[in-house]
Amino acid sequence: MSKTSATKLAIHGGPKAVPDGTVKAWPPIDDVDRRMVLASLESATHAFGPNAKAFQEEFAAWNGNKYAITTNSGTAALHMGLVACDVGCGDEVIVTSYSWSSSATCILHHNAIPVFVDLKWDTMLMDEDKIEAAITPRTKAIVAVHLHGLPVNMEKVMAVAKRHSLKVVEDACQAHGAKFQGRKVGTIGHCAAFSFNQNKCLCSGEGGMFVTNDEDLLKKAAQLWSFGETRTPLESRDYHAYALGWMYRNNDLTAAFGRAQLTKLDGYMTTLKTNAQALADALKGVPHLILPTEYAGAEHNWYNYTLRFDMKALGHEHDAGAFRDKLVAAMKAEGVQTGVWQKFILPAMTVFQAKNGYGQGCPWSCSHARPVNYDLKQYPVAQKHSDWHTGMTVPLRAPNGPEVARLTAAGIRKVMENVEQVK
Ligand SMILES: *Cc1c(COP(=O)(O)O)cnc(C)c1O
Repeated sequence: MSKTSATKLAIHGGPKAVPDGTVKAWPPIDDVDRRMVLASLESATHAFGPNAKAFQEEFAAWNGNKYAITTNSGTAALHMGLVACDVGCGDEVIVTSYSWSSSATCILHHNAIPVFVDLKWDTMLMDEDKIEAAITPRTKAIVAVHLHGLPVNMEKVMAVAKRHSLKVVEDACQAHGAKFQGRKVGTIGHCAAFSFNQNKCLCSGEGGMFVTNDEDLLKKAAQLWSFGETRTPLESRDYHAYALGWMYRNNDLTAAFGRAQLTKLDGYMTTLKTNAQALADALKGVPHLILPTEYAGAEHNWYNYTLRFDMKALGHEHDAGAFRDKLVAAMKAEGVQTGVWQKFILPAMTVFQAKNGYGQGCPWSCSHARPVNYDLKQYPVAQKHSDWHTGMTVPLRAPNGPEVARLTAAGIRKVMENVEQVK
């Protein structure tokens, strides 16, 4: 689309760049989903049943893990991962300063203390070169979040972990099928968590998966997963709580939905890649946009296509977040399905600033804990990223094709080429 002086943005009554009804909802549902979900519904097993068991086996095979346990959320799988790695009361766990809240609150779930690391601007991921400085004698583990679907540099993370005898939990909740040095995420750290929430690349409504290749970690995770009652995954239940446990099991209907979607996952990943490329090509030359990139050895799954506005060039460094909100509102008016994801960086969230998880200041006030500092001046890159970003998911997902990506790009271009209309 070329710029003409007559171009009027939709916020001022001009025509929409992306007509209503263009973007189809995620995920596509077909007869495979209907058949499998209905078969589960008509069966006699609705709690953890044959579909849940098969989902574990099929997902482990798809991802290349020895073991998998299906859960009712990705957050449950993260909590299980930390406990499998022996994280306990007062221990410190290193995590990125910008992610979904539960990448860090899963640490609080077991009375452990998150220690945040600032981002690397180009990748939007935890700066792997800043991990070592965050390690203390209390550090037990690292949560490596493959944010937006771009893998963390696991070579660097695993090297630091090895030097300091730390365990690594991969938060792969957004990163199904993403690869680092040719290996799928979730197979590189000691264990990993995936989410099957509706927004994720594999949807079962809600749900998740804990994966590992280590039998010892599997046993510890399984114990937490089901009331603390499992001694080993091979033994039958005797309804005794051997340890503190939760109820994180998945149900059969959800697992049937997940299994049906899993048969289509490779196709979905190809569609995402094609659409992300079409969007990137169509966004070339749009003023004041910073496009997301991969880096050598890392293969993105394009779960979330995250753009940054160059607020310095736009003259809005001082009010970046507020001006970004106006740009996004103008794009939404054009029919572009883009949004603002995390407006708050993790350490700025109230639970961390107040240092109060379980009341009475727990776990930070616990006698096992060492004082930690959440002064926000430590995370300038995360804050800048948060203020400058916008991201999109559904327009790039199946059943949408490259033509939807190109219309989306046209809407973004229209706003950025007429930015003087956004005030
Ligand atoms: C979605 C998500 C989670 C949590 O998954 P749920 O299934 O919603 O519990 C954790 N971490 C990241 C990075 C996520 O995107």
